[in-house]
Amino acid sequence: MQRYNTFDDYYKSKFKTKVYRLSIDLGFTCPNRDGKISFGGCNFCSEKRINSKLITNKETILSLIKKEDEKITRDHKSLIYLSSFTNTYARVEDLEKIYKTCLEYENSVGLIIATRADCLSDDILELLSYISKNTYLIVEIGMQTVNENSIRMMNRGYTHSYLKKTLEKLDSLNIKYILHTIIGLEGEKNEDYLNSIKYINSTKAIGIKFHNLYIEYGSNLLKKPFEDFILEKDEYVKIVSNLIGYLKEDIIIHRLCSGPNRDKLIYPKWAGDKARVISSIQKYLKDNDIYQGKFYKGDDKDEEKI
Ligand code: SF4
Repeated sequence: MQRYNTFDDYYKSKFKTKVYRLSIDLGFTCPNRDGKISFGGCNFCSEKRINSKLITNKETILSLIKKEDEKITRDHKSLIYLSSFTNTYARVEDLEKIYKTCLEYENSVGLIIATRADCLSDDILELLSYISKNTYLIVEIGMQTVNENSIRMMNRGYTHSYLKKTLEKLDSLNIKYILHTIIGLEGEKNEDYLNSIKYINSTKAIGIKFHNLYIEYGSNLLKKPFEDFILEKDEYVKIVSNLIGYLKEDIIIHRLCSGPNRDKLIYPKWAGDKARVISSIQKYLKDNDIYQGKFYKGDDKDEEKI
């Protein structure tokens, strides 16, 4: 029995074949890294990029996608995934060129664009709305948590209230989005995680990505007593499994845990074995007879039992 709504199953049924995300890095940076908001970045972020050249050349973009695609041997379709940094942080003319090129790739069925809630100006939204009407588009937004205090502590650069307004704009344009949430932030408890899930249930998000907090070289969290708040594997497994029970059943789980760069990973070491974390979550769900939506009783009616 499949106990949650997986990315693989959902897109296989939608596009009638296996669908892979082809992740490419086109050299975007981020306003929380290049000084527009801050140079420090979110405190969990280890990637630094200030001056980089955006790749807009059609042949180069297509060859980057092809390189990823060639790693896959079985028959499939592709969702082109702009995943690194803030993939709407550029001139709208450049974005248009990039997005259209990605969609021209031979077996592309759509596009996933990861970005921040404060990098969606009206002209960019207009472009996304046009693309969304003509192909399959998902905007991936870093929410992380609904707790404003945690958001301030992580130096996110925008509030949860701001993010809510951005989601309203996406809703008004019928642009699909998924939300990214972190489990294990300093000071957060089960109640905070549940509040994040309840908020996601109340939106029109079509999907969620769970991120287990970990530390890589370059992260500002190194200055904190991180061993005191970063979760043990079994705690993470238990929390995420229960949150799946609270998640509305039609929300697609795009990711159960992150896959850090093992060469850069400092703590915790268990985060380096993504396959093991996923199988532990699946086992916990089975052993405790939890399935997606089991505890969901409608917005604001859940009992808190994590
Ligand atoms: S996590 Fe994303 S938004 Fe935050 S600093 Fe890093 S690239 Fe920017």
